[in-house]
Amino acid sequence: MLHDGRAMAESTNTYPELMPVVFSDLDGTLLDHLDYSYEPALGALQRLKARNIPLIPASSKTRAEMQAVGEELGAAGLIFENGAGVQWPGDVDPGPPAAAEHISYADIRRFIETLPTDLRRHLTGFGDMDDAGVAAITGLSLRDARLARQREFTEPFTWSASIQELDRLTARAGAAGICVTSGGRFNSFTGAHDKASRVREICNAYATQADSACRVWSIALGDAPNDCEMLETAQRGFIIHNPDGTSLPELPGEREGRITRVPTPGPAGWNRSIMLALQEIDTMNKNRKRSANG
Ligand SMILES: [Mg+2]
Repeated sequence: MLHDGRAMAESTNTYPELMPVVFSDLDGTLLDHLDYSYEPALGALQRLKARNIPLIPASSKTRAEMQAVGEELGAAGLIFENGAGVQWPGDVDPGPPAAAEHISYADIRRFIETLPTDLRRHLTGFGDMDDAGVAAITGLSLRDARLARQREFTEPFTWSASIQELDRLTARAGAAGICVTSGGRFNSFTGAHDKASRVREICNAYATQADSACRVWSIALGDAPNDCEMLETAQRGFIIHNPDGTSLPELPGEREGRITRVPTPGPAGWNRSIMLALQEIDTMNKNRKRSANG
């Protein structure tokens, strides 16, 4: 399958029917960044359900945090902890797990405990805190903090020393096969997977079992820097405006017309994006039939 801008042009020459799969960030994208509502997206959600198009939420949250909303949304699968974890769609064969999957939360905690004191004392992970401590530093409710602490593959942490010292920590983690990613308030220990690599994996699995006359067409939606790779990986991407977030630099996919910046924030922008993506797919599928017949 193709993962670049040529896909759109080639699809009309080779006549594959496009088979969409939707990957979406949650907070600030499908969920309103203030009240977590997805009501303005109900129209598009309904449309996906009616057409049997899989929706796979992709978030930095834990599986425990995503489960309830995932079920409400009728999600086919989940990409959680920023891609370190994946709950495969029930109708897809994931194949054997890659090596990076073997880095578990327990491995990361063990690594932390082997650190020399001069690094260890600057690091506070979620596993070093109780629910109340996580609630205090994240602003989550106690209940949500409890779900956020049910980690399977990654460990967010605060760092109280210099960037140079963080580089030392990163090098040490790297030697143990663990990556360090830097976010806004938190850094995070993680394996090699991210949202984008999961999008590719899941699309490849769908493509393997799809009819040869079909082409998997990934649609990605996100609002933040940790969504950029996923937006670039998908055949079609939408940047949902987040009035309170970090504004994203122009992505290469925007210049190539694969990625569209939607000025409407949150679920209302999500709704518009999905409607537009479905319209594009219908047009391409119609053109395909026309050229196949003509
Ligand atoms: Mg977001």
